[in-house]
Amino acid sequence: MYIFILQLSLGLDGDLVAPADFKSVSEALILSWVSSILTLARFFKEYFMKYDIIIIGAGPAGCSLALHLANTNFKIALIDKDTFPRRKVCGGALSERAINQLKAFPKELNIYENFLKSVNKIKSYGLRIHTLGNKNSIFDFKDPKNKYKVPGFLCMRSDFDEFMIGEVKKYPNIDLLAGIKINDIKITKQEVIVKSKDQVFVGKFIVGADGANSILRKKFPSYRNISDVGITGHYENVSGFHKDNLIDMYFLKETLPGYFWIFKLPDDRVNVGVYTTKENLLKTKQNLKTMITDIISGHPEISERFKNAKKVDEVKGWKLPIFFKRIFSKKNLYGSRHLFIGDSASLIDPITGEGIGNALLSGNYAAQTLKEAYKNGKIDSSELNQYRKLLVEKFKYELPIHTFFRVFFKNSIILEMCFSLIKNLKSFNSFISKRLYK
Ligand SMILES: Cc1cc2nc3c(=O)[nH]c(=O)nc-3n(C[C@H](O)[C@H](O)[C@H](O)COP(=O)(O)OP(=O)(O)OC[C@H]3O[C@@H](n4cnc5c(N)ncnc54)[C@H](O)[C@@H]3O)c2cc1C
Repeated sequence: MYIFILQLSLGLDGDLVAPADFKSVSEALILSWVSSILTLARFFKEYFMKYDIIIIGAGPAGCSLALHLANTNFKIALIDKDTFPRRKVCGGALSERAINQLKAFPKELNIYENFLKSVNKIKSYGLRIHTLGNKNSIFDFKDPKNKYKVPGFLCMRSDFDEFMIGEVKKYPNIDLLAGIKINDIKITKQEVIVKSKDQVFVGKFIVGADGANSILRKKFPSYRNISDVGITGHYENVSGFHKDNLIDMYFLKETLPGYFWIFKLPDDRVNVGVYTTKENLLKTKQNLKTMITDIISGHPEISERFKNAKKVDEVKGWKLPIFFKRIFSKKNLYGSRHLFIGDSASLIDPITGEGIGNALLSGNYAAQTLKEAYKNGKIDSSELNQYRKLLVEKFKYELPIHTFFRVFFKNSIILEMCFSLIKNLKSFNSFISKRLYK
């Protein structure tokens, strides 16, 4: 092929030229070599940039999908606009679902064992709910019969993301392309073409794992999704924690149906934040930044806990796209040569605001679906519907229960009644711990 390109560019058809013309011939030769090398480079670049799956976003959802396909024949591009480590607006509370998903990666990858060894974290056994009447409801899922049972962990979100990125880097079939912002996506019948400012990636399939502001979602707006809002930051020297590191959730008049939270992190740090709805902010004419500082300085119990506290970083806000019935529609979850996982599929819990567990879970389900589809040799809608079916089955209890509570949590009196009722119902607690969040 090289000889052919050389001949074509020289127009020589294999004949040598006379020695008198030596200078011009050598110049022509050099030029032709350069041009053929460039042609070859372009050919190889094109060849090597053909991916089976292009994942936009290397947060928990994108890393989960990539790791579930690690050590397979899939050639994967995992692209993120950021370089790691980086701060991400998030609490870093890993629920039991998130932990179960870390355990659900293929055994030989040892993801959960590596997480236990390398991420700086503390154990948390549940929640302490504070309602307006200042009544505390404790949901402590510590199992006295099983001292090894750990419902969740609390860590810096930046540490968790750095850990996942470190795991992804171990596998040669995954190209981690960090620091590349995707700004254009074209999906044709044959392929997917993804562009950044100065690079082009070509693949057979694309997955949107690019969070609440997903660029892929902008191409396929299925409906008006519902985004809640949250703000968070870190402090030191906050007091009054429960011995089992329960997450403190204060349901306050100004935050309903959301809440103000505080939880412990390693190295005497704490994460603090507010989770609420846009409607609440509009209705009460509040702003998230002043809301969080007003609560810390003005709430009698909280201000006491913060009296010696020191701020570690600035509070920062972000969107939380929550799940509701319509997000489980086909149009929202997949389409021609694409599907959505994590926040870009709106999988955040509409009561707690948690999304890491569901991001990991959806990456797992997407991997199962894509493996099967490629095995059967077709990535069409009948194959991709398996992804939707897995999610619908998983959320069959959670969706109605959480939608129901979210409506009632808007009213402080009903919220108070709900918690008084359920905190004493042993069966409800065991239902929560057995059926939900797994
Ligand atoms: C204030 C707040 C606190 C929270 N606290 C918790 C908590 O304690 N526990 C919990 O479980 N959940 C929490 N959440 C929710 C959680 O942060 C998300 O659900 C989770 O990060 C979703 O993961 P993801 O991989 O889908 O998206 P993300 O983590 O958002 O990752 C998306 C990735 O895509 C990249 N990206 C975006 N656009 C582009 C582009 N154009 N090109 C290339 N890359 C791109 C981004 O850089 C990012 O790395 C919180 C959210 C907020 C806002």
